[in-house]
Amino acid sequence: MSRYDAVVVGSGPNGLAAAIVLAQTGRRVLVREAQQTLGGGMRTLELTLPGFMHDVCSAVHPLGICSPFFRTLPVAEHGLEWVHPSAPLAHPFDDGAAAGGAVECPAGLFHDG
Ligand SMILES: Cc1cc2nc3c(=O)[nH]c(=O)nc-3n(C[C@H](O)[C@H](O)[C@H](O)COP(=O)(O)OP(=O)(O)OC[C@H]3O[C@@H](n4cnc5c(N)ncnc54)[C@H](O)[C@@H]3O)c2cc1C
Repeated sequence: MSRYDAVVVGSGPNGLAAAIVLAQTGRRVLVREAQQTLGGGMRTLELTLPGFMHDVCSAVHPLGICSPFFRTLPVAEHGLEWVHPSAPLAHPFDDGAAAGGAVECPAGLFHDG
């Protein structure tokens, strides 16, 4: 334990954000994750059929684009590329119809180049 200044339990978006902020101040941080893959609700897993990848809690991704904190991180340097579908949000109805929507960030926070 003395090798670390802080231990973060869980590697979801909140845990990783806390760990990054602590590490940015020069502190030695250990992140402990109970699952076999990192990311908590941010994970992408083969939940249904082979080859079909699902965002376990997909709202984390669109909200990540707008997050003032995430926007301070050089995530593109680590290989992250935001892909923008024509319909980022949709809700199916019982009659087979669906409603779609767009993700808009507060003015000035997000400019998609
Ligand atoms: C099915 C589903 C749908 C959701 N949809 C939305 C949505 O539409 N919009 C929205 O805003 N939010 C949604 N959420 C919530 C969103 O996923 C959370 O707000 C977000 O993931 C919280 O991040 P977190 O880091 O706090 O926790 P999590 O992402 O849950 O991560 C916690 C991590 O801690 C690990 N952990 C827990 N206990 C221990 C332990 N004792 N030791 C080690 N590791 C541990 C877990 O394995 C996990 O990886 C949804 C959640 C679920 C489950």
